[in-house]
Amino acid sequence: MNFISTRGGEKVSGARAIVQGLSHNGGLFVPEKFPKVSAEELEAMLSMSYAERAAKVLYKYLDDYDEKDLLRACEEAYSRFDGDDPAPLVKLDDGVYVLELFHGPTCAFKDMALTLLPYLLRKGCDICGIKEDILILVATSGDTGKAALEGFRDAKGVKICVFYPNDGVSKMQKLQMCTQEGANVNVVAVKGNFDDCQTAVKNIFNSVECAAELKKRNYLLSSANSINFGRLAPQIAYYFSSYLDLVSCGQIEMGTPIDFCVPTGNFGNILAAYYAKRMGLPVRRLHCASNMNNVLTDFLAKGEYDARREFYKTTSPSMDILISSNLERLLFEISGRDAALTASRMEQLRTGKFYSVTKEEQADINETFDGGFANEEEVVETIYDVFCDTGYTMDTHTGCAMKVAVDWFEKNKKDTTNMVVVSTASPYKFPQDVLYAVTGNDVRDSFKGIKRLHAATAMAVPKSLATLRDKTVRFNVVVSPEKMFDEVLRFVSEK
Ligand SMILES: *Cc1c(COP(=O)(O)O)cnc(C)c1O
Repeated sequence: MNFISTRGGEKVSGARAIVQGLSHNGGLFVPEKFPKVSAEELEAMLSMSYAERAAKVLYKYLDDYDEKDLLRACEEAYSRFDGDDPAPLVKLDDGVYVLELFHGPTCAFKDMALTLLPYLLRKGCDICGIKEDILILVATSGDTGKAALEGFRDAKGVKICVFYPNDGVSKMQKLQMCTQEGANVNVVAVKGNFDDCQTAVKNIFNSVECAAELKKRNYLLSSANSINFGRLAPQIAYYFSSYLDLVSCGQIEMGTPIDFCVPTGNFGNILAAYYAKRMGLPVRRLHCASNMNNVLTDFLAKGEYDARREFYKTTSPSMDILISSNLERLLFEISGRDAALTASRMEQLRTGKFYSVTKEEQADINETFDGGFANEEEVVETIYDVFCDTGYTMDTHTGCAMKVAVDWFEKNKKDTTNMVVVSTASPYKFPQDVLYAVTGNDVRDSFKGIKRLHAATAMAVPKSLATLRDKTVRFNVVVSPEKMFDEVLRFVSEK
């Protein structure tokens, strides 16, 4: 399978797409066509383990990798998750399920892909015959950074540098990153918000001068952000797996379409669901859930992407995003794969923070997608209501999605389609906010929050968060966006 750029001009292998991250003209790599999973193949996947299902889905795209080798890598990656199922499905009510994607090493759904990406990248370098060391640059709104650091720590021939918005991540997220162990890691706070971080990292990627400076030092740039197809591919797998779980538990018949409701920021997670649908998974609708930074809600309702708006810092920081990078891949598809049009829209977004799609394109999008959002009060109310009604505790990001799902059922009372709400983080990653939602109590300290939340919910505390308090803070550098590349050069020059 080959990969092409959403902005045209480039065609590369899967390995190359992953190693390179972004195409040379700034476009994102997409598969030349969507591989299909037949009804027989789906049936055969029923009896498989999560790792086996994941390897099957991955190999559909990455056929330049060895299938058995992929399977071994999946088994190894998902063995690092708590419990025996890396992506368990919890039934909340008739027709409403929660897909928990936070049982990995850093307690957020980013682990689903980032535990596997180091393998995909290393193997990709072998396949492409690349001899340089790899430098991974990551812009993070909180969770990607930690998951990438954990995934790549002490990986041979790789250095990783993570940038996060100084005031834009939760205390737990910051602590998780700044205490990261490993000899090949660097963590840098940036004066600005996530969009500033992401734009600056993209600029480094697109700069010929930066590439030359790094090449002098024997480094090749790559990305662990969700623009990398190596992030997207493992995410497609859990949509398949959760569907198969519903069938094996007798909740639905094979072939019955279901809905997913996804807490969305950069549009990577929900895009993976769309890819699963295009591959033949019986998916009806995809509900895109935002917080108050509801640029996607408006886009899905009006066909106009307008980032000229106030940026809010919310209790779901991983969704505090106004420029959703992965939407470019959807735009490419709904424009009939028109690379020139996609490039021009992305240019309008860059220069004027705005673009629109045609009425036909919007109708096309709305065949599958609709959007909604939750304000801060609604997140609290939703977490509280679900906790009272069912005893289930969810985090703030999942709270946004649950609110959108509840609204959907309010408006569509006769709808009997099963809904899977995707849960993207452990409640213990945002302990104070979740504690407040569940009990009305405010505590200042995150670890006190964890303790009280545990007392209130009796949910097990992930060990990686409980032990964080005793770790040493290793990183405290703060830079402005213009100085990010200087920091990169300093880091790669370290021995
Ligand atoms: C990253 C993240 C999201 C947003 O996912 P996208 O793929 O960027 O849309 C939602 N919730 C949590 C907890 C996250 O870490």
